[in-house]
Amino acid sequence: MAAEPLVHGSLQAADLLLRDVHVLDPRSGIDARRDVRVREGQLAELAEPGALSQEPNEELVEGRGNHLMPAFFDPHVHLRTPGQEHKEDLDTGTRAAAAGGYAGVLAMPNTDPVLDSAPLLRSLRDTAAREARIAVGFVPAITRGLEGEQLTEMAELRQQGAVGFTDDGRPVTSAGMLRKALQYQRLCGGVIALHEEDPTLSRGGAMHEGAVSAALGIGGIPTISESTMVARDAALAGYEDARVHFQHLSCVASVQAVAAAKAQGFRVSTEASPHHLLLTEEDVRGMDTRMKMNPPLATEADRQALIAGLRSGTIDCVATDHAPHAREEKEVPFEQAPMGTTGLETAFAALYTGLVLPGIIELGLLVERLTAGAALFDLPTHTIAPGEPANLTLIDLDAEWVAGERGWESRSENCCFAGRKLRGKVLMTVCEGGVVYRERAFSVVGA
Ligand SMILES: [Zn+2]
Ligand SMILES: [Zn+2]
Repeated sequence: MAAEPLVHGSLQAADLLLRDVHVLDPRSGIDARRDVRVREGQLAELAEPGALSQEPNEELVEGRGNHLMPAFFDPHVHLRTPGQEHKEDLDTGTRAAAAGGYAGVLAMPNTDPVLDSAPLLRSLRDTAAREARIAVGFVPAITRGLEGEQLTEMAELRQQGAVGFTDDGRPVTSAGMLRKALQYQRLCGGVIALHEEDPTLSRGGAMHEGAVSAALGIGGIPTISESTMVARDAALAGYEDARVHFQHLSCVASVQAVAAAKAQGFRVSTEASPHHLLLTEEDVRGMDTRMKMNPPLATEADRQALIAGLRSGTIDCVATDHAPHAREEKEVPFEQAPMGTTGLETAFAALYTGLVLPGIIELGLLVERLTAGAALFDLPTHTIAPGEPANLTLIDLDAEWVAGERGWESRSENCCFAGRKLRGKVLMTVCEGGVVYRERAFSVVGA
């Protein structure tokens, strides 16, 4: 028997009456005000507002029409443990996730040491069972040490609970090596997630290669560094009938390559990050190192292609690629700074403010894409329906806040949206029936 893929610390099963909340769950088709009862951590009842009355030992949450959504799921985060706990760890990373409305995340293996062995996976899962505030799944490396030369013990890792495999942070440059991994996948399962980059094209680059990099005199990374690898690996996935997930798509040609692969029936899926959906190379002009990420922010045409892909479903889900770095690591000249931005605490509000409020996408679609990541990795999707475990996020869509003004739950503060005025604030998050986050100013009426 393989181990359960998701792990979390101990959670106290809650008894809640959420009175008069606006339930929005695109999958169960609800978009209406309801009273919602959670009994011993399970969704027990949904009724017309005002229909349910508080039971003894039940906590009353006055919803006041605030939105109750299935809790979000992020298939791509960096929790930095083991080895870089000065940036993040399981406690702070999952606290940041809970504050962003997430009840599940998948952790990447580019740690120190690299998560590439069963003993390390076991020990991380043990730590998560003590420290993680929400459900965490681990995605070990495809190749040992992320070096692209030797496959990890994929079957054994799967037995120990590996959700899938990735060399994220690096590409699998050898097509032959990736093909071998895809053949192993046939025996042991587990989605193979790919960071696409051709190092012979990206080498030396610190931002998108284009008008802005030319103006700033900074070495550029051309979009073909990503898109040619997406095309290559889509072809490999098709040839081997393998299950591949493309991480953090960033440009027109990659979206086109995925659309073509999907049209042929290949088993590929994709994600896009809030920063690629909302920012462009223009945001790099000030050489703020929080705007330095991999893949780099590209052009407005690229951003529009990602939004169109999100709408059409070519892009299956939103993933933050939450990548914490210490202040002193980012406070260096742009070229030398490490790549990455944090994202868990701002994802919903940034996308709601930037895409939903101006009418570019519907709120229901955003919620669908923020929750779709679980099913892509064969994990249960959070749903608001009686009998389901309570995985919920309660959001005040009208609340305005400035990102970072009251600090962060994450240990790091390298957020590309810091200082922006955002709309939409998470008031409460419930994970597997336990309340894992309450906004400081949000009061509840006692049990
Ligand atoms: Zn990556
Ligand atoms: Zn990443």
